[in-house]
Amino acid sequence: MSAVLPSSASLYDRVRRVIPRIEWSVFVEDIDAILNLKRQRNAVILAHNYQTPEIFHCVADIVGDSLALARKAMTVDADVIVIAGVHFMAETAKLLNPDKTVLIPDLNAGCSLADSITAEDVRLMRQRYPSVPVVTYVNTSAAVKAESDICCTSGNALAVVKSLRVPRVIMLPDEYLAKNIAAQTKVEIIAWKGRCEVHERFTAADIRELREAHPGISILAHPECPPEVVAEADFAGSTAAMSDYVARHRPARVVLMTECSMSDNVAVEHPEVDFVRPCNLCPHMKRITLANIRTALEENRHVVTIDPHVAERARWAVERMLFV
Ligand code: SF4
Repeated sequence: MSAVLPSSASLYDRVRRVIPRIEWSVFVEDIDAILNLKRQRNAVILAHNYQTPEIFHCVADIVGDSLALARKAMTVDADVIVIAGVHFMAETAKLLNPDKTVLIPDLNAGCSLADSITAEDVRLMRQRYPSVPVVTYVNTSAAVKAESDICCTSGNALAVVKSLRVPRVIMLPDEYLAKNIAAQTKVEIIAWKGRCEVHERFTAADIRELREAHPGISILAHPECPPEVVAEADFAGSTAAMSDYVARHRPARVVLMTECSMSDNVAVEHPEVDFVRPCNLCPHMKRITLANIRTALEENRHVVTIDPHVAERARWAVERMLFV
């Protein structure tokens, strides 16, 4: 029988529905080491909803979507922040905590959206559309945020656009998020051509097949999905909004059209709900593991730094969003 060490036993109870006991035995040593290292270093771990359950439920102190992590990062009382997420999230945490050490366990944990646009691209958009405000999704580099008027997340994008009280905005870089927001407002939205490599793979045909195979199923889609997917879903919202939807409606069977681990993490909280999992993994999120979180804390790597001139302007765009 696989060993469950005493300090980890209560944690295993929490995740037993989504982590087989045999797999758990591989995680136990790293989990115990990380819990000790957090105490020694006065560190906290911020984990995105797309992290695997052994990270999300067993070592993270703060969990949520990009907006929640950004908000909670502002109130962190610790010397060290480890980001279990991708690089732009680590940069956002650093922007909001310039005096703290922010670590990202794998420097190559990127994002197809963040990689789709540069600061120079934003400057060119501004030249092309003078005096049109630039709303930038948080899934971008600090350098791109620094060229923006305000940031947004998938959870607050509509509110941010409305808050500007202008007839036209530039919304970067997610083409699908921009189109999905445009469908909900009279504000004209000028989009970029970036896409999330995970969400762009879902199709309206997937939804029809799911409805046929599972009559009565509730289908929730992330707004980074193509507009035809959002149009056919029962509900569209950020990962936090999807999680809230499941908690409020308790559907008998549900599918979350988003990254795979999200279903596992929400399933832990709702044993009565049957989750159907059409699995699209984010290879960048999956670069973060218990092993490299442990190494990050043991060896203080990789320290996130941002050019102070870039940081000052990028912080302004992020903080402006937090007060909408
Ligand atoms: S899921 Fe998509 S948007 Fe999120 S980090 Fe991965 S590639 Fe980027």
